[in-house]
Amino acid sequence: TFPTAATHVVTVSQYACQRRTTTENKNKIFTDAFEVLVDNYDFNEVTGPSLAFSRAASVLKSLPWTVQSLDTTHNLPCLGEHTKAVMEEILRYGRSFEVEKILADERYQTLKLFTSVFGVGPKTAEKWYRRGLRSFSHVLTDPSIHLNRMQRSGFLHYGDISRAVSKAEARALGNIIDEAAHAITPDAVLALTGGFRRGKEFGHDVDFIVTTPELGKEESLLPIIIDRLKQQGILLFSDYHPSTFDATRPPSRSFEAMDHFAKCFLILRLDGGWRAVRVDLVSPPWIVSPLPSGWTGSRQFERDLRRLARLERRMLLDTTPCSTKPRYRKEFLAAVTEKDIFAHLGLEYIEPWQRNA
Ligand code: ATP
Ligand code: MN
Ligand code: MN
Repeated sequence: TFPTAATHVVTVSQYACQRRTTTENKNKIFTDAFEVLVDNYDFNEVTGPSLAFSRAASVLKSLPWTVQSLDTTHNLPCLGEHTKAVMEEILRYGRSFEVEKILADERYQTLKLFTSVFGVGPKTAEKWYRRGLRSFSHVLTDPSIHLNRMQRSGFLHYGDISRAVSKAEARALGNIIDEAAHAITPDAVLALTGGFRRGKEFGHDVDFIVTTPELGKEESLLPIIIDRLKQQGILLFSDYHPSTFDATRPPSRSFEAMDHFAKCFLILRLDGGWRAVRVDLVSPPWIVSPLPSGWTGSRQFERDLRRLARLERRMLLDTTPCSTKPRYRKEFLAAVTEKDIFAHLGLEYIEPWQRNA
């Protein structure tokens, strides 16, 4: 028998931070299609529908069952008319014609190709497209195109860094960074963050938090680590951003909170396998290091944590030592661990491996 609506009368929250989402996606056939639509809306800077399809994809990822009929989706939030029309096509024909049309579109294909290069965002991709460029060789041989340092590395290591990084490779990199950090100070602490902390098997990069209990010392950590990696001959690219952290500045209202901690975007050569890998390091002060400084993700999970705080709790979430702030009273709530943040927001704790929203 087919599942009926009654089989699934569990309430699903509209906020990703109130759902448990593992890496096992039972509705990939739908969410893959939605992701194409999201990319296409983003390329055209159409934000509303982009967010709508991102949210819909996130809801479907959280389900422990596969949607087999639209009748079973009545209780699900964030599924609008358009979303359901796409799902209906997929249920009926196994594919969405709207999505297929986009996939066959030259502009979409070209922007997708260009933005797959490290250092090339939608704006640059669009600029190149408008100049009539359609391939990497067009870009690389056009005398009017000046690549910045990041883009040059992106092209140089394109093959390597577009290949997924495995857990074993992430571990090997962890050892290298750990050794570098400990050579600077025996107190250094390294923690895996990003997708691998959420239990993903593969990633597009490896993300680490590195810090030390000695206040202020974390500021010098990254430059010294970078220097060491250079001396070891494994640094292929580095883009270092010193801390712009200012505890007196009010928390950001944005969905996408870019934090102000020292960070660097690297390309390292993983010896043995002789391949280039993208690595991100962020170095917050010790006191905020346990916080989900936006780096554990997923992006949708972090966005919804902020959205819920703002809309349902009238608080602003920030990665300062005082991380949640009731909006209309000038009061800060201190959070020392991730669990504190969930508690302040009146949320059940969601483990990192359940944040694959
Ligand atoms: P993948 O396996 O593709 O790497 P991921 O979830 O690890 O998946 P990342 O792009 O590495 O994706 O980002 C990890 C987290 O760090 C995300 O939640 C993202 O929002 C956050 N993040 C990325 N760049 C920055 C930045 N410059 N400042 C603050 N947070 C960032
Ligand atoms: Mn990552
Ligand atoms: Mn990253």
